[in-house]
Amino acid sequence: MPNYTFDAPTQPFLPVAGSELRYPVRRIFCVGRNYADHVAEMGGSTERDAPIYFTKSPHGLLQSGEDMPYPPGTQDLHHEIELVVAIGAEARAIDRTAALQAVWGYGVGLDMTRRDLQGVAKKGGQPWDTAKDFDGSAIIGALTPAERFQLTEEKIHLSVNDETRQDSPLAAMIWSVPEIVANLSTLYTLRPGDLIMTGTPAGVGPVNVGDRLVGKVDRLEPVTTRIV
Ligand code: MN
Repeated sequence: MPNYTFDAPTQPFLPVAGSELRYPVRRIFCVGRNYADHVAEMGGSTERDAPIYFTKSPHGLLQSGEDMPYPPGTQDLHHEIELVVAIGAEARAIDRTAALQAVWGYGVGLDMTRRDLQGVAKKGGQPWDTAKDFDGSAIIGALTPAERFQLTEEKIHLSVNDETRQDSPLAAMIWSVPEIVANLSTLYTLRPGDLIMTGTPAGVGPVNVGDRLVGKVDRLEPVTTRIV
């Protein structure tokens, strides 16, 4: 064993649906503004020539079913339900037509957001890190291998306390999964363990202590959490 100054952090991972295997998580990329109706509710513009990205530390990852402690530093914690793409092969500047070959599987995730801090950051032209990357800010369900799930006409859905808050066809994404993987691979060498949260549809809003969130995509494992 290497002689580290303290115990090395444990490897973040996600369970795999119907398997004892664990998917080790390396990086978490997120796509911003990827559904026109959500861009509209946030008052933004969809006119752009490439997706926009931010990242979350994998060490802030929660698994589905875990409680999410309401984070410090915010009065306006928001939910964003998203399709998650799990990379399974090295990909560097790959073509859109080859992009799905780098995809290992899919999951459903919550991109939890300190919306008040994001508003301040946007206004000041500052980075989004404290708004988007904090303890518990990514909550992701068990992954389903791509051989058992092809994207067709699925819907993505989120309820809070059994009331629907977000509900959209995945086909409404501005940038498709192959387009995102191909574009991101021109900026980073993607490697197995890299996750991509692909953006959220309209209906984002605040959550409070005691709320129970259930996010679903047809034929994938759900993501659930309770705010505590
Ligand atoms: Mn998001």
